[in-house]
Amino acid sequence: MKKKIIVQKFGGSSVANIDRIKEVAKRIASYKRHRQDVAVVVSALGDTTDKLEELAFSIDAHPPEREMDMLMSTGEQISCALLAMAVKKLGFDAVSFTGAQVGIRTDKAHTRARIIKIDAHRIKKAFAEDKIVIVAGFQGVTSDAEITTLGRGGSDLTAVALAKALGAKVCEIYTDVKGIYTTDPRIEKKAKKLTKITFEEMLEMAALGAQVMQTRSIEVAKKYNIPMHVRSSFSKEEGTMIVQKNEKMESVSVRGITCNKSEAKITICNVPDRPGIAARIFTEISKAEVSVDTIVQNVSHTRQTDISFTVPKTELTKTLKTIRNLSEKIKIGDVSSDKDIARVSIVGSGMRSHRGVAAKMFQTLADNKINIEMITTSEISISCIINRKSSDKAVKVLHKKFNLERIN
Ligand code: ADP
Ligand code: ASP
Ligand code: MG
Repeated sequence: MKKKIIVQKFGGSSVANIDRIKEVAKRIASYKRHRQDVAVVVSALGDTTDKLEELAFSIDAHPPEREMDMLMSTGEQISCALLAMAVKKLGFDAVSFTGAQVGIRTDKAHTRARIIKIDAHRIKKAFAEDKIVIVAGFQGVTSDAEITTLGRGGSDLTAVALAKALGAKVCEIYTDVKGIYTTDPRIEKKAKKLTKITFEEMLEMAALGAQVMQTRSIEVAKKYNIPMHVRSSFSKEEGTMIVQKNEKMESVSVRGITCNKSEAKITICNVPDRPGIAARIFTEISKAEVSVDTIVQNVSHTRQTDISFTVPKTELTKTLKTIRNLSEKIKIGDVSSDKDIARVSIVGSGMRSHRGVAAKMFQTLADNKINIEMITTSEISISCIINRKSSDKAVKVLHKKFNLERIN
């Protein structure tokens, strides 16, 4: 009989030290005992990736991206070898592989590469030899044999892509929380674990800053309808299933709240209000490879207007420099920036069929004296940019108002 294949991914906190690695090894072995083929994707130990990044930044604020990938990919190479040793020590046969060794082919975009294809034959050969396969997450290789990484949190993407390539029956994501919660349990203790969430909602939550899953991994899982189970590596409890949309799930308007503190706001005052100026500004910014998010332009009464927009905090200096250069070519007024902002968002596919959700959000913030600086909406989310100091409070009051403590 053909054995079932499962893919399991263990995040950094799940393999933070040797004791944890031994625990994970036991868990993997228990699945093997059930006669399943197991492919394990592993992240770097604890906060190794952050530490490696710090080392690079202590040499150069803008290190060469190719060298960054050479450096950052080493974290996962350590953890996959140690985990393979721990599994073997339990008497099971295991083999560790780097991304390149298992044919994870990517494009050439260093530090944020996309997976183009996976040649799964080496993994399948190891399965045929009854081995547990342990793959270093977060990395791949280009057609020129250059090592690449898949963006922060990229081990999630490795796991989903492997699940697709191997035709796995499920992709399990083991992490330090029991599943996907209504909001980050570090901010709101009353956050509730969801039994199910749709791909669409998870994608929106991830894109709006819920750290628990990498956005691109959910894009791929949604596209290929790969069943995902997010659960704790510290307990046996069932976690959260990420599933295709179903009608019943639209009965609640809001399923989750996110808070993203990684953006900064820029305001350009007195921009000439005539066709082509906004295009000019944002073309220059995009040439500098900065991705702009929320944009707000005020109504002009004087043929001059103010434009505000958000960019990742890490791109603030570069964006301000680009605007400064531009100000020599077009006449603009003062430019200001604010790093102390946060984006608080409510997400739910039921928003399509419920009225008054935005009004309720704005009123709740107003009742708590939280000023809204910018607003954006999508079909299934509403985001407010507010002062960073008020963001935890905003999450808590919205969580209560939308009754998320009682959702399941
Ligand atoms: P890993 O190291 O396993 O990849 P991450 O640190 O990337 O784990 O993601 C898990 C963290 O995501 C949790 O510790 C939690 O604080 C945070 N998080 C943010 N939003 C949510 C949410 N809605 N549900 C669960 N966890 C969340
Ligand atoms: N180690 C990488 C990171 O911290 C990839 C991952 O853990 O998913 O971003
Ligand atoms: Mg992660």
